[in-house]
Amino acid sequence: MFDTLTDRLSAVFRNLRGKTRLTDADIEATTREIRLALLEADVNLAVVKEFIQAVRERAKGAQIHAALNPAQQILQIVNEELIEILGGAARPLRYAKKPPTVILLAGLQGSGKTTLAGKLGKWLKGQGHSPLLVAADLQRPNAVNQLQVVGERAGVQVFAPEPGNGIGDPVAVAKAGLEFAASKLYDVVVVDTAGRLGIDEELMRQAAEIRAAVNPDEVLFVVDAMIGQDAVNTAKAFAEGVGFDAVVLSKLDGDARGGAALSIAKVTGKPIMFASNGEGLDDFDAFYPDRMASRILD
Ligand code: GDP
Repeated sequence: MFDTLTDRLSAVFRNLRGKTRLTDADIEATTREIRLALLEADVNLAVVKEFIQAVRERAKGAQIHAALNPAQQILQIVNEELIEILGGAARPLRYAKKPPTVILLAGLQGSGKTTLAGKLGKWLKGQGHSPLLVAADLQRPNAVNQLQVVGERAGVQVFAPEPGNGIGDPVAVAKAGLEFAASKLYDVVVVDTAGRLGIDEELMRQAAEIRAAVNPDEVLFVVDAMIGQDAVNTAKAFAEGVGFDAVVLSKLDGDARGGAALSIAKVTGKPIMFASNGEGLDDFDAFYPDRMASRILD
């Protein structure tokens, strides 16, 4: 993950080593290299422009109050600006004052939603919660079964429609799931919704309908980081069609470049709350912009 970006940036900082002060030409050359590195990592162009502008201005300002050496100064600025584009401070999950907390998962088919439901369920259990997964993805024939398998692996209860009993109506299933959770004292409900291979109106309408029916505390948009800048476009479509509170990046392990991760918070104005980095149920954690920035600059 981020391999090339890390290599390119460390080369930039290496070039500055030994310099006692930075000229404007040094700053121009450095920001040019950083710009290329970000573009090569497939970062959104508008995000790159803003990033470079901020680094350039701060680097010029930093010349005056030079306490660190130039390489350290630029490294610190780049680190802070990376944290900024990754969303700033970590955004923890908001729990409802009165349980159950309802979390709705939305995203394209194949984005990793069902897997995520299991990971999130396991994570919630680890945090001392009592989660319930609700199978409101009734589009794909196998989706309910897949959630049941994932739930079993995660040791988390799954609420699924009885075969032949209102199976076609995801809104009814989501509502019934909530009632079940309240009656059995589950304190967090994770609702898995249907995805399509591409963005379409029917998908958006259904997700928006489920949203209206269950009034979630958090709508999490799940997106496959491997699709690069398409992740940003998909996010925009979901922001308009369904609306969401935070992003979950999945398949970060398969994304060598990092463009989606480095663009999506800034472009959507929504924080990245969780990241998945593998198919295993434990390949998942809350997302910390500062830790990710350190990894990139490692
Ligand atoms: P859904 O259609 O959105 O519910 O997506 P699935 O949960 O079925 O995931 C689609 C595929 O991606 C499955 O083969 C998963 O095993 C795989 N997958 C999910 N999350 C990750 C991840 O973080 N890393 C990797 N490498 N694969 C993942």
